[in-house]
Amino acid sequence: MNWNKAGCEEIRAKKNKELIKIFTICLLIFFPMPLSVCYAAASIPKELTNYISALEKQCAKYGWTDIKPKEIPWEYYRTTKRKHPLIFVNFGNSGKNCVLFLGAVHGDELPTVYLMLKLAHYVRDNPQIFKDKCIVIAPLVNPDGFLSKIPARVNANGIDLNRNFPTKDWHPEALKQWRLKQHKNRRYYPGRKPASEQETMFQMALIKRFNPQKILSVHSPLNFFDFDGPSSDLDSFGQWLEKISKESNHPLRKFGFFPGSLGNYAGHERDIFTITLELPSSEANKAKEYFDKFQTSILKFINLSVAVS
Ligand SMILES: [Zn+2]
Repeated sequence: MNWNKAGCEEIRAKKNKELIKIFTICLLIFFPMPLSVCYAAASIPKELTNYISALEKQCAKYGWTDIKPKEIPWEYYRTTKRKHPLIFVNFGNSGKNCVLFLGAVHGDELPTVYLMLKLAHYVRDNPQIFKDKCIVIAPLVNPDGFLSKIPARVNANGIDLNRNFPTKDWHPEALKQWRLKQHKNRRYYPGRKPASEQETMFQMALIKRFNPQKILSVHSPLNFFDFDGPSSDLDSFGQWLEKISKESNHPLRKFGFFPGSLGNYAGHERDIFTITLELPSSEANKAKEYFDKFQTSILKFINLSVAVS
């Protein structure tokens, strides 16, 4: 009897020791993480975990091994035609000083995804950057195009998302210009009607919700900076960008905007300072080089004060 009791106590003590060990390991793993990540880890929907895994695989395929999409507390409310979540992350909560970053509006512009994912890691690791700001990053606006076997500019419906915004000139200019200027090139097809795509509505919803003063959308491979914004302040904004262009040794062009383009919708019609950064190429293996090249300019853009009308 005594032996049994002693045996039981020994087993119980062993079990307790084991439990303490497990609890300590859990604490060590989860304590350094922000609460949102722990919470997210506990409640991530399957479609998001699947998507993040697919993204991680694609990053590894391109040699972007320093990118860990799992570590970012993504949010999403919409999915694409191929059921990929349209993800974004929001750092900081100042409603007055908000900057929005968009990557891979065109799915075959590969290094733009790396730039935005790397920026998300960088901002997460340097919280002083968003102390009195709000920084919203949507790294992959067109996941269906990016994750296609052969990456595509257009989305799964064959629509150019940078021609699908509901700008005032969309009817009848978007389709007319596509026929006459683009000679019906499918890569620039604006769709049958404006804002017909989830990815377009996603960008519109981000603009509506966060009311950004500044937007930077990364594209490739045209190799320049372009800008749109409130016409009264455009000169000083242009001068600032001219300086940035010299510092980063990257040309500045006034490319203009199109029916249904972001520059038209956000810059021209909504007076948001909107920069397009066109990287020099769409090659995935140049991505790290481009991040190093443009990191300083991007951080300066985050800190740039603009006059709010
Ligand atoms: Zn593009």
